[in-house]
Amino acid sequence: MSDTPRQVLQSIFGYPDFRGHQEDIINHSLSGRDALVLMPTGGGKSLCYQIPALCMEGTTVVISPLIALMQNQVDALQALEIPSAALNSNCPPEEQAQIFSALKEGRIKLLYIAPERLSAPGFIDFLTTLNISLFAIDEAHCVSHWGHDFRPEYLKLEQLKERFPRVPRLALTATADERTEKDIIQRLGLQYGAVFRSSFDRPNIAYYVSSKSNPMTQLVGFIKSKHSGEAGIVYCMSRKRVETITAKLCELGFDALPYHAGLTSTERSRNQSHFLKEEGVIMVATIAFGMGIDKPNVRFVAHLDLPKNMEAYYQETGRAGRDGLPANVWMIYGQQDIVRTRMLLSENPSYEQRIQDLQKFDALLGYCEELTCRRQILLSYFNEHSEPCGNCDNCLTPPDIQDVTTDVQLALSGIYRTGQRFGAGHIINVLIGNESDKVVECGHDQLPLFSKGKHRSRSEWQLIIRSLLARNLIHQDLEGYGALSLKEECRPYLKGEVKFSIRIEDKKSGKARVSPKILENGDDQKLFDELKRVRLELAREADVPPYIIFFDRTLLEMVHKKPDTVSALSNISGIGATKQEKYGPQFLEAIGNFIAKQTVD
Ligand code: ADP
Ligand code: ZN
Repeated sequence: MSDTPRQVLQSIFGYPDFRGHQEDIINHSLSGRDALVLMPTGGGKSLCYQIPALCMEGTTVVISPLIALMQNQVDALQALEIPSAALNSNCPPEEQAQIFSALKEGRIKLLYIAPERLSAPGFIDFLTTLNISLFAIDEAHCVSHWGHDFRPEYLKLEQLKERFPRVPRLALTATADERTEKDIIQRLGLQYGAVFRSSFDRPNIAYYVSSKSNPMTQLVGFIKSKHSGEAGIVYCMSRKRVETITAKLCELGFDALPYHAGLTSTERSRNQSHFLKEEGVIMVATIAFGMGIDKPNVRFVAHLDLPKNMEAYYQETGRAGRDGLPANVWMIYGQQDIVRTRMLLSENPSYEQRIQDLQKFDALLGYCEELTCRRQILLSYFNEHSEPCGNCDNCLTPPDIQDVTTDVQLALSGIYRTGQRFGAGHIINVLIGNESDKVVECGHDQLPLFSKGKHRSRSEWQLIIRSLLARNLIHQDLEGYGALSLKEECRPYLKGEVKFSIRIEDKKSGKARVSPKILENGDDQKLFDELKRVRLELAREADVPPYIIFFDRTLLEMVHKKPDTVSALSNISGIGATKQEKYGPQFLEAIGNFIAKQTVD
């Protein structure tokens, strides 16, 4: 073993310190043990296998489902002069042959492959002849049917344990509910490994949700007020809407491009490459776009239509601000969206799937209609507790709140007193005193709480129950008839010990409220723009996206510190030895010129 993980982090990647569990994960892998890493997008998963790869003899194999993502990582590693390669279907035969011989000679530290590759005849046998230091399995949730993105090719990974009993495996994902997590561990045979779970919070992302009135005006208002000239993604439900919105944005002078499954693959990759390689492009897209896009400086994600569930929302919004700098995610929704999505989800022929999808969608609606901190709700959906964040619309501009603490008590007692065997419709009938056949038949009209809730309408009760589901205080049975039951967490609410408030009247205003800019000072902004220009030039020369040269964060640190010597430059996060030598002079010169010009002015 040559360098320690910390030395590699500092000298090669140019970062002063590890983040979160990174160091523990790296040491765990170095000691030859398996692990599962659950870390949000932008959390820094890549270093968890890149650093062990550099600290160990041999080759680390990274399995990743997306070619774009692989290529991106290989570009980034090559910019650091780390011997790495990607074997995928885009790779011409001569290049493949070169990679194979480099592998045989032990010249490759990191090899990226798509999971399909493992089924290629003789490939696994070939790997057994090499010195493999580690298998990193990215997007590990793809191995599970429970995850939202199951990929049959991932099942091939089950063989790794048997074929390479001595090689540690590191599974990584940014999405895993409990079921998926268990499934990953079981399918990959990671029983004796450890699970490293980070908080799924993305503190740099600000969350905004409002009612839809005039989508185009609202969207343009949002972009202009906060994100002019910045890169972002606008999600729409249909191809047609993607086309219309793109056309309108272009008419208004934005650099916008469409992306959906109806375009040819050439058009799609051209648009994607423009988005990655140029600054300030807006991608208007269906959900076909995004997986594997790790452009770090996407400054906003806007939803003009509702995503399918919280997992999808979290993933899609998570594409904003991977670089850790402030980013806004913004969504508008209306009654129509709700009806339309419900209808779509109800078309699924599988009963179980249908119920599950609808319940998950309801949780998303609960999130939309909530009055308290968005982040708290989002995180509690993923079983994480947090305090009000101060960086979401509800925290920044608290809406009018109705206290429904006693109604919630009533709803919870309704569920309890009827034996936790009935769905929302029946419970509501009991609460509002509707003597339906079933209510009478079950004798629920005799309960003391019968008709105690008639001061509220059916739809208000639905909202309350939906919100209870959204906050995970009650459970809806997926099999059977959607019976509601109480969860342990609801106890304080049942006793009325904790207040519960809800938005009954939808707020009328749909205007965007946004958080402060990254750079307030005009001169700083000018220097930042100038450094971005230098970066873009270097990126075009090397035919890589600008962030392969330096992240925005690194440029911003240059703006603040204005380094004037090579050694001052090396203290900036994200500048390791290689990049300092390769790009340092150009940036020092740009900063020098800028300061000189300012002094003259
Ligand atoms: P993920 O794969 O988890 O989405 P990445 O591995 O792409 O995240 O890392 C996200 C960003 O954080 C990248 O810009 C990466 O260079 C940066 N990063 C990761 N670890 C550190 C660290 N210890 N210090 C500073 N920046 C880091
Ligand atoms: Zn908040």
